[in-house]
Amino acid sequence: MADKRDYYEVLGVPKSATEDEIKKAYRSLAKKYHPDVNKAPDAEEKFKEINEAYEVLRDENKRKAYDQFGFAGMEGAQAGGGFSGFQTGGFDDFGDIFSQFFGGSGFGGFGGGQSYRNNQPIKGENTVRQIDIDFMDACFGKTMEFNVDVDETCPDCNGSGAASPSDIETCPTCHGSGTVVTQRRTMLGVMQTQGVCPDCRGTGKKIRKVCPHCRGKGYNTNRSRITVNIPAGINDGQSIRVAGKGERGLNGGPNGDLYLQVNVKPHKVFEREGQNILLEIPVTAVDATLGTEIDVPTIHGDVRMKIDAGTQDGKILRLKGKGVPSLRGGANGDQLCTVKITVDKNLTAREKELYRELQKLQGNQNKETIWDKFRKQFQ
Ligand SMILES: [Zn+2]
Ligand SMILES: [Zn+2]
Repeated sequence: MADKRDYYEVLGVPKSATEDEIKKAYRSLAKKYHPDVNKAPDAEEKFKEINEAYEVLRDENKRKAYDQFGFAGMEGAQAGGGFSGFQTGGFDDFGDIFSQFFGGSGFGGFGGGQSYRNNQPIKGENTVRQIDIDFMDACFGKTMEFNVDVDETCPDCNGSGAASPSDIETCPTCHGSGTVVTQRRTMLGVMQTQGVCPDCRGTGKKIRKVCPHCRGKGYNTNRSRITVNIPAGINDGQSIRVAGKGERGLNGGPNGDLYLQVNVKPHKVFEREGQNILLEIPVTAVDATLGTEIDVPTIHGDVRMKIDAGTQDGKILRLKGKGVPSLRGGANGDQLCTVKITVDKNLTAREKELYRELQKLQGNQNKETIWDKFRKQFQ
């Protein structure tokens, strides 16, 4: 315990960090140190450390406890065996400690959110993970496999955390009610406050012997391999939902979902704009002048395309249906080819000769050349 790093330090956020900042820091660190991605020998250890820190700081109550009591506050909270640490720590008034924990005295403060007294099953939070997909795989879809670490209800104890059902007993402190009443003598008389039972944290139950499989946590973190269908047509920034692979639920609630957020890697030639593919195609001055047919590369393979005589630089030619398939089963996008007229600098002697002849011919004709037209504007 002594050499544990401060949770805020682990996530690299200040003590004053908002929930959002914590989440952001966690995501970028988790992405960086995920054992799937990071092969450094200490990556897994770091990943665990990051997860543990996040586990505490994302939970308002746990965070408060951590802020006030450090790791000592966590040990009790995580072991599930009550806050025995405090009993021997010289605190004789649980009421005060717990009112600090829960931000108020009595039940008024427990109204919203994940109250400890509320045993309702709550679905876990969704998690987001970034995945990189090749350009072509995003166009045509692919089946991919990933490792995910998911907290699953312990099968040995069914999530109770107890070695056997007979190891669950009614809490002797609160007799199963989950609440305790403390009386205090004050100048105004005897004040009575009701608070969450510190012994069972409001569950009304105590566990005599913890489940050896999950060590009382009620869940185990299992690594499983998931197969995900990347649908054809998915685009950068879109997400794929994997049901039930997010964070664990509370009180037996189902896990949240995992969202795989797609980063589409750029292609070295094709550019994508929605469902359309953009491509610049070089055309020689001669071909643009006289017209030709060329085989244009598309994501579907080569497609024969006609270049009309007199095609100008920058003209966009559309290859209908040669773009990206529709994610929702509609029509394909198009490929938009931008003509880039290129001048050949490596002419053979014969080619040069022909060009010279053409130049001479254009100069000797009575026909108005492009240059003549241009000059006329300045007269
Ligand atoms: Zn168990
Ligand atoms: Zn109790």
